[in-house]
Amino acid sequence: MADQHPHDHDIVTRPAIAMAGTGCDAEQYAALYRRSLDDSDGFWAEQAKRIDWITAPTRIANWSFDPVDIRWFEDGVLNICHNAVDRHVEAGRGDRTALIFEPDDPSGEVRKISYAQLQREVAIFANTLKKLGVAKGDRVTIYMPMVPEGAFAMLACARIGAIHSVIFGGFSPDAIAGRVEDCRSDWIVTADEGLRGSKRIPLKANVDTACDKVPVKGVLVYRHTGGDVAMQEGRDHWYHELSADVSRDCPCEPMQAEDPLFILYTSGSTGKPKGVLHTTGGYAVWTETTFRYVFDYREDEVFWCTADIGWVTGHSYIVYGPLLNGATALMFEGVPNYPDHDRFWQVVDKHKVNIFYTAPTAIRSLMREGKDYVTRHDLSTLRLLGSVGEPINPEAWRWYYETVGKAKIPVVDTWWQTETGGIMITTLPGAHDMKPGSAGRAFFGIAPQLVDGDGKVLADEATGGSAEGNLCITRSWPGQARTVYGDHDRFVQTYFSTYKGKYFTGDGCRRDDDGYYWITGRVDDVINVSGHRMGTAEVESALVLHPKVAEAAVVGYPHEIKGQGIYCYVTLNAGDEPSEGLEAELRQWVRKEIGPIATPDHIHFTPALPKTRSGKIMRRILRKIAENETGSLGDTSTLADPAIVETLIETRKNR
Ligand code: ATP
Ligand code: MG
Repeated sequence: MADQHPHDHDIVTRPAIAMAGTGCDAEQYAALYRRSLDDSDGFWAEQAKRIDWITAPTRIANWSFDPVDIRWFEDGVLNICHNAVDRHVEAGRGDRTALIFEPDDPSGEVRKISYAQLQREVAIFANTLKKLGVAKGDRVTIYMPMVPEGAFAMLACARIGAIHSVIFGGFSPDAIAGRVEDCRSDWIVTADEGLRGSKRIPLKANVDTACDKVPVKGVLVYRHTGGDVAMQEGRDHWYHELSADVSRDCPCEPMQAEDPLFILYTSGSTGKPKGVLHTTGGYAVWTETTFRYVFDYREDEVFWCTADIGWVTGHSYIVYGPLLNGATALMFEGVPNYPDHDRFWQVVDKHKVNIFYTAPTAIRSLMREGKDYVTRHDLSTLRLLGSVGEPINPEAWRWYYETVGKAKIPVVDTWWQTETGGIMITTLPGAHDMKPGSAGRAFFGIAPQLVDGDGKVLADEATGGSAEGNLCITRSWPGQARTVYGDHDRFVQTYFSTYKGKYFTGDGCRRDDDGYYWITGRVDDVINVSGHRMGTAEVESALVLHPKVAEAAVVGYPHEIKGQGIYCYVTLNAGDEPSEGLEAELRQWVRKEIGPIATPDHIHFTPALPKTRSGKIMRRILRKIAENETGSLGDTSTLADPAIVETLIETRKNR
């Protein structure tokens, strides 16, 4: 169905401001991209020179997707913490700000941590972990609020060769217990409480409950709010007490490039979260390179990624990517709508943020409240905007570009996954024009390929041309996950068995004639109406285009005549009310936007949608509700607000 698509030619020319920086213009991109595939070893050996190696690698790529065995820079020795912290101090840049901390409460204390301070803090943290008994290769669970100590803890693990497993500080005791058990972690780093939108999150109490189920040897507790917590003798230690007399020097442990760096559990949008394992050398090179090119970072700029360190976006683009580049990264403890819907823009103004990276879920929720919240702040320091996490509807893209970016600065929509370690498909700000709703082009070294259900190749970079299919990547890249921790079979089964010899992403995608990729949604979510295959993203974007619609989630359900019917969950903008008239109007609206085949069967108005803790719409649960199979919702442990599921079940349409 995809030969030509109405949106393929909606182009927004890249703004002139994006032409400097890395100096990567359209021609350079083309040349570098070609080289990254034709002379992959040469290209990556060169990028790897930006990392300080204790022993420089002589073997660059050594991987196979059948059998699955992935190695990069394997004879190299390095320490990523040294690269993210110490080397900047040694280069005389210790006074530069590494982290800016903006607290939940706008009148609370801002912290600015220089690279020299960061080095001291991380060394002390690392020695404290050692004193607790943590050794190289041990798994350390980090369950922290969004405070600099969370980043210190990650870097401290990396410094001594321990493997961190960060769990989002909003997960339940059950979720903690499951992850601690899965990676057999004996140690937990946490805080007394976290703060989000003035609410206190009982982190330590959650850890206590988790440890009743899955005991650990030691819990290190950072005092953040000063709230009351129970301390268990022999197991629990206050960070400020245990760290009081440790040495301020802690050497960086030399690590093999393929030594594990961290385990991170995926968001759980499609099922039980997977404990994805990343290793040291390839991940360092990959996050350093992608951060530099995609965000076009320039000296002294302030970079703000609004993700939590509990997600891969926080790992790669709050901690490792920015710090490897010697950048200044902002860490924000709070939420976008506290104390009011303008908090993001207030923080941009306050800290003179230059590069801002957020998720479509946040953009849509702020858009819903109207543009006055944005326009009352001075956003003139912004030079680049980014999006990640879900397909961004063209309507939301335009709002971001025009209302936040004043139609003057580039927007990069970055497609990637926990498993990919860093950005895979994006536009580069100085090289590419933008197409609202398309993630953009392949990053260096990335070979996307679209295949049909039988594995027949429909389009890739070699064939060119347009097609729509299942998105695979045919060759390895340095930041690729190496395995699912403790379950290599699951790794092979999940990613390499659907299409032998290829990494299968699980996402559906269209490639257009200009080589731009359009993510159409999860392959499992594709709807088949009377033989026509439809991505959820397209129908959702048509709905969001309506002036009253804030957000939409579309799923299929069994339909006697059509095979599958189209069921749409819709939330409205602040001030707009559901009505039968609006329902009919939306049906017509989609029909007009896409065609009669896409006419919704059910429109279900709801105050909110079920989302993962990272803000992604959980369509698999919505599908169950639309199918009337409410008895078997599957794994719901990563849901942000389980209550909304009950409401949706009660108000469902297809009874
Ligand atoms: P699980 O794998 O446990 O089901 P998940 O896939 O949501 O959870 P993540 O690794 O956090 O876990 O998310 C990666 C997915 O997010 C991608 O496969 C894709 O579906 C979606 N995604 C991320 N960025 C983009 C983007 N820019 N455009 C479209 N989709 C995106
Ligand atoms: Mg996934």
